[in-house]
Amino acid sequence: MSTRKLLLLPGDGIGPESMGEVRKIIAWMNEVKNTGFELDEGLVGGAAYDAHGAAISDADMEKAMAADAVLFGAVGGPKWDDVPYDVRPEAGLLRLRKDMKLFANLRPAICYSALAASSSLKPELVENLDILIVRELTGGVYFGEPKTITDLGNGQKRAIDTQVYDTYEIERICGVAFELARTRGNRVCSMEKRNVMKSGVLWNEVVTQTHKAKYDDVELSHMLADAGGMQLVRAPKQFDVIVTDNLFGDMLSDIAAMLTGSIGMLPSASLGAPDAKTGARKAMYEPVHGSAPDIAGQGIANPIAMIASFAMCLRYSFNMIEDADLVEKAISNVLDAGFRTGDIMADGCTQVGTTQMGDAVLAEFQKLSA
Ligand code: NAD
Repeated sequence: MSTRKLLLLPGDGIGPESMGEVRKIIAWMNEVKNTGFELDEGLVGGAAYDAHGAAISDADMEKAMAADAVLFGAVGGPKWDDVPYDVRPEAGLLRLRKDMKLFANLRPAICYSALAASSSLKPELVENLDILIVRELTGGVYFGEPKTITDLGNGQKRAIDTQVYDTYEIERICGVAFELARTRGNRVCSMEKRNVMKSGVLWNEVVTQTHKAKYDDVELSHMLADAGGMQLVRAPKQFDVIVTDNLFGDMLSDIAAMLTGSIGMLPSASLGAPDAKTGARKAMYEPVHGSAPDIAGQGIANPIAMIASFAMCLRYSFNMIEDADLVEKAISNVLDAGFRTGDIMADGCTQVGTTQMGDAVLAEFQKLSA
């Protein structure tokens, strides 16, 4: 039995409640499937600030660096709105991403057929939608220097952000997209703005060259990012994997996310570079939603985004494809059976709380695993 080291960082608000449902699945897998997950736990966000005065302690950061994968809940809440900027809850998340060098953000947009009616688009446009947005996470305009606001002295100020990408950053992110495409529909659409941005010209060039050199078995297309936004709401099923930069990825992945219904359904993964010796990547898995302080502690949060994030962890960190498929199928079956948390409730369905939803998914996963 191999050991698989998982660090759980439940965080604040509904983070701990939803993480509890994942813990049950892991406990059952260890007991019955002999999966050998070794769990450790740490504090992040407001919870870490209350305990250590920092958004994540050095000790917990070390645990994250040593783990095979990190499962992250959510951070933040009104209690910590006024804490100093550098120790605000989100600083914990940013430190994890930075220190673990998580440059590839994977945001699947999957529309379960049972929820197609709750999308803002027509059900036939989104039913069984399954696209994956691969967003560059550590470069581009959010981090480029100079990044300043200067007083021009004439009653005007000037704000500067810098969009900057080097070849290696584009090569490695499109490499992730091509490799993932091979495990899915084998198609990648690269999005940039080469018509108005030099970084878009280089992006397009490097993606094209990388494709030709190493991935010409994958179908590649290019689209301007604004046109991509339109196509995502016009005919989203035309896409398989979309690869794009930090800024456009931020926008496009939120657009894609909303095609699928509720924020309580959306998982994500952030991956680092493969280790030169072992090939293993540092990785963190987290729901897209925040800490939902408005419903925290009431036992009504939807745990599916957290559970689906664990399924991504099985798939991408541990290559446990069959189990990942079964967890995702279990979610789909539970929705088909009419179970709904409040955020996705619909006429004729059965409203359940966090624990009941988690139990239902686990029971279905057990059944499918038998
Ligand atoms: P949010 O995602 O926490 O909540 C938005 C709305 O969606 C709320 O009405 C909430 O009740 C609902 N919601 C979210 N997740 C749900 C779930 N699993 N089940 C049912 N309903 C769900 O976003 P927000 O309200 O803008 O932010 C709240 C706090 O979370 C803030 O402090 C913010 O900074 C933080 N935040 C953290 C992260 C993160 O940890 N990655 C991401 C976004 C926001």
